[in-house]
Amino acid sequence: MSQKPPPKQFVKTPINGTKYTILVSSAKGGVGKSTVAVNLAFALQSLGLKIGILDADVYGPSLPKLLNLKDKPKSEDNKSITPLEKFGAQCMSMGLLIDEQTPMMWRGPMVISAIKTMTQKVLWKDRDVIIIDMPPGTGDTQLTFVQEVKIDGVIIVSTPQDLALLDVKRGIQMFEKTGVKILGLIDNMSVFEGDDGKKYKIFGDGGVEKTAKEFNKEFLGHLPLHQDLRSSSDKGDPLTRVDPNHEVSLLFKNIAEKIKSSLN
Ligand code: ADP
Repeated sequence: MSQKPPPKQFVKTPINGTKYTILVSSAKGGVGKSTVAVNLAFALQSLGLKIGILDADVYGPSLPKLLNLKDKPKSEDNKSITPLEKFGAQCMSMGLLIDEQTPMMWRGPMVISAIKTMTQKVLWKDRDVIIIDMPPGTGDTQLTFVQEVKIDGVIIVSTPQDLALLDVKRGIQMFEKTGVKILGLIDNMSVFEGDDGKKYKIFGDGGVEKTAKEFNKEFLGHLPLHQDLRSSSDKGDPLTRVDPNHEVSLLFKNIAEKIKSSLN
C-alpha cells in the first residue's frame, strides 16, 4: 500500500536579539508597504516596545530615505554587522550597503543570500520586535524567506484596488502553505479627503476588508491617503513618531495595539 509522504518540514532559523519577528508584506509594489512598516514600527515603539526595522526589500530599499539614514553600518569582526540606531530603533537595509544610485539587478540566489546575511549576521540586540519590510510579491525570494526564517506573524498591506487584491489572495495562500500566521490585513490609501471636505475613494471601496472576511483573517484597519504621511516620509521622520496625536498616527496606534495584543 502506498503511503502519502509527510508534509515537508521547514527548518526555520530565528533572528537573534529579538523576542518577535513580524513581516510587513504586500503582493504588489507601490501600495505603501514601506511607509506602513516604518510608521507601524514607531507606533509599536510608542506602546513601549523596543523596535528593530529590517528593510528586506532588496530591489527597492527605502529605509535609508524614510529615516534619513546616512552612515554605513560597521562590522567589528568582518563577519557580523552592527545595525544603525535611529530614533531609538535599530535599523538595517541593503540600501545602506550599496550606493543609492546603484540599480539592484540581482538574480534570485543573490537576493536570497543577501536576505540570509541580513537575518543571520546582523547583531540585533535586546529588541521586543523586529519589523521586516519584505520585497513585494510572492516569488522565490519571498517563498525562501518564509520557509527559512522563523516568523511570528505577517501583516499584509494593500490598496483596495482589484488588481492589488488578486495578488493579495496569492500572498495569503503562500503564507498559509508555509505555516506563517497572518496577523491581519491593512487597507492603505483607502480614502482621500479633498480641500472641499469631500471624501474620494480613489482605489475603490471595501475590497481589503472583503478579502479579509473571505479568507477568515483579521481586518486591522483603514489608512487614508494623506499628504502628511507622504511629506513626513520624504523628510525622513515618520508621522507616528513626529506627531503621535495626528489623526493618521492614531489609526496606526490602533493597529499597533491589535498587533501587540496578538503577540501576547
Ligand atoms: P511600497 O513599499 O509598497 O512600494 P511606499 O511605502 O514606498 O510603497 O509608498 C509609495 C509612495 O506612496 C511613497 O511616496 C509614499 O510616501 C506614498 N504613500 C504610501 N502610503 C501613503 C498614504 N497612506 N498616504 C499618502 N502617501 C502614501
